[in-house]
Amino acid sequence: MTADNPVRWEADGDVLVITIDNPPVNALRLGVRVGIIAAIDALEADSSLVGAVMTGEGRAFIAGADITEFGKPPQDPNLNDAVYKIEGASKPVVAAINGVALGGGLEVALGCHARVAHPKARVGVPEVHLGLLPGAGGTQRLPRVAGVEAALDMTITGKHVPAPKAHAIGVVDAVADDCVDVAKDKARALAAAGTWPVIAQMPNPSVPEGFFDAARAQIEKKARGQMSPILCLEAVKAAVELPFAEGMDRERELFVQGLTSDQSRGLIHAFFGEREVSKIPGLDPEAKPREVKTAAIIGAGTMGGGIAMCFANAGIPVTVLEQTQEALDKGLGVCRKNYENTAKKGRLTMEQVEERMALFTGTTDINDLADVDIVIEAVFENMDVKKDIFTKLDAVCKEGCVLATNTSTLDINQIANVTKRPQEVIGMHFFSPANVMRLLENVRGDATADDVILTAMNMGKRLGKVSVLVGVCDGFVGNRILHEYIRWASILLEDGCLPEQIDKVWTDFGMPMGPFAMSDLAGLDVGYRIRKEQEATRSSNVRYVHIADKVVEMGRLGQKTGGGFFDYIDGSRVPVPNAEVTALVLSESERKGIERQEFSDEEILNALTDLMTNEGAKVLEEGIAMRPVDVDITYIFGYGYPAYRGGPMHRADAVGLAECLARIKARYEETGDHSWKPAALLEQLVAEGKTFAEWSSARAA
Ligand code: NAD
Repeated sequence: MTADNPVRWEADGDVLVITIDNPPVNALRLGVRVGIIAAIDALEADSSLVGAVMTGEGRAFIAGADITEFGKPPQDPNLNDAVYKIEGASKPVVAAINGVALGGGLEVALGCHARVAHPKARVGVPEVHLGLLPGAGGTQRLPRVAGVEAALDMTITGKHVPAPKAHAIGVVDAVADDCVDVAKDKARALAAAGTWPVIAQMPNPSVPEGFFDAARAQIEKKARGQMSPILCLEAVKAAVELPFAEGMDRERELFVQGLTSDQSRGLIHAFFGEREVSKIPGLDPEAKPREVKTAAIIGAGTMGGGIAMCFANAGIPVTVLEQTQEALDKGLGVCRKNYENTAKKGRLTMEQVEERMALFTGTTDINDLADVDIVIEAVFENMDVKKDIFTKLDAVCKEGCVLATNTSTLDINQIANVTKRPQEVIGMHFFSPANVMRLLENVRGDATADDVILTAMNMGKRLGKVSVLVGVCDGFVGNRILHEYIRWASILLEDGCLPEQIDKVWTDFGMPMGPFAMSDLAGLDVGYRIRKEQEATRSSNVRYVHIADKVVEMGRLGQKTGGGFFDYIDGSRVPVPNAEVTALVLSESERKGIERQEFSDEEILNALTDLMTNEGAKVLEEGIAMRPVDVDITYIFGYGYPAYRGGPMHRADAVGLAECLARIKARYEETGDHSWKPAALLEQLVAEGKTFAEWSSARAA
């Protein structure tokens, strides 16, 4: 093997063993494709060989395409050439799937004449997550071996199927620990029989009448505007309706549609972004994350309980501190109930529930936190309470313990400064429900040490989160931007919209819920209390909408009381417009002497997304977010922003910053509202004709 020939082959008696050896995961870069073709030529050329086995070196069979080739001009031979070469060989070729066979990797295996998998191997076609579909015959061959239903499910979900299941649905022919030896025997047996299955020659699979219409309706409901699952469906449909060669043409056509789409660019940006946010420029290269073997959580409320579950899920013993035994029992009871509900759904065994609960230790004595490696405080959002706790932690906790707060709004520097070790203090802002939401917004204070930052980032990874590092400001990155567009959504109510119209625009855009349904879910009383506290100091120059306050005063606190901006009938989570809220909105416009106007969906969408762009730019120019991609990933993982749009900053680049800025300026002139004051960074980029992405790469260089 040479660097340019990452495929080697060697005869074992009468069978050629072809090994893909392209660390780390045997991705299908050009050299691999060339190597596969050369290996089949070698098989054909040697008359002493009766067949071949194809396997992967290391832990993967072939993990898929080489992502570093994305966005570059394609180079021949393409993957289809390699797959056809295998399939058309005059001797049988058997895949020995020793590890993951994903995307192009599974397509290579499907070009082989039989497949033997290691019991721990997994197969799948995850292209849908990048806005694509399997483009080397996967959509035509998979339904021919697995049946349409299973193939469609694999293609539109992109899920990894473990070997035993893959065997049950017909994707692999056998499962064996010694898969390479079994594959050799299989190759010999096929050669001896003189005939072997060629998937391309198998008959079209069939489906019951109406199958694709029903599947399409289901996909559209779930995909929230994402195109690639529909492209996958169309391709699989072609496997049913068209002869193989025509099906392949159709697959290619659909693949190109995906590849050239904005959605695919957005998803690929999100894919790389998820990895990029873990890299923190400017830290001491010698700094290392601290070892964390034990943790403590203070407060067993909504957030504390969820955070404690994250630690238990990661196998880390966690001490939970509450004020009273009663609050402790209640909090831990909720954790247990959550686990039991998961078990009822079959996603945990009762034994696992007990294992996880055994990792919890409850206490009401702060001295029990003396030896833990990390503490995360999740008590009421009140500065005095937090300061009191951090003073006590400073006295109790061992040297080197990371002291984290889950505050969503308070100044971490103030909290850090009550301790004698502000360098150990950091914000670790989890999102609700903490055991479900993927985002962890780590907030560095002025004094936070580099190794504390790395510990928090590493902790996020161990807990299965996507961690983004941000700086201190009101609301940090996520909620600061959220606050801007939620506020404007309420202004739009007064000016002429209804909650259901705005929410529909937002969900049509691909968000999981609109601003008003989201407020109902979070509980309207939380914001109400904060706004009442701010009342005395609120500037009269800032436009203030009273609708949300009045909804609360009607006794409508959101989902938990069966209604807020919307009704939630019989405990359902589906928002239904409420006539009293409509009347309230209309009367508030009237009370303020506002003549209600019609807003088109486009106007609403532009207003909300432009505010995200503008505030995102402000967050960047202030250095609160390090890079545009940090804002994008915060929104995708913390707020369900559609990954296929790449995140708010990526989308702004795609829409065009000049266009956004022109609208922002017009709004600022019209309203004079501080939210519309154009961000200096945005003005600078438009003046220079640059995108956020270009600005970011220039700074990284
Ligand atoms: P919560 O009211 O549900 O829980 C707070 C818990 O802290 C209560 O059980 C209370 O008994 C306990 N507590 C109070 N003082 C204590 C003390 N001195 N020692 C031990 N326990 C004490 O509140 P929550 O919604 O879980 O919020 C907790 C923190 O998380 C707040 O800082 C909040 O801003 C932040 N946060 C909340 C959300 C959210 O959506 N709820 C999201 C992100 C962050």
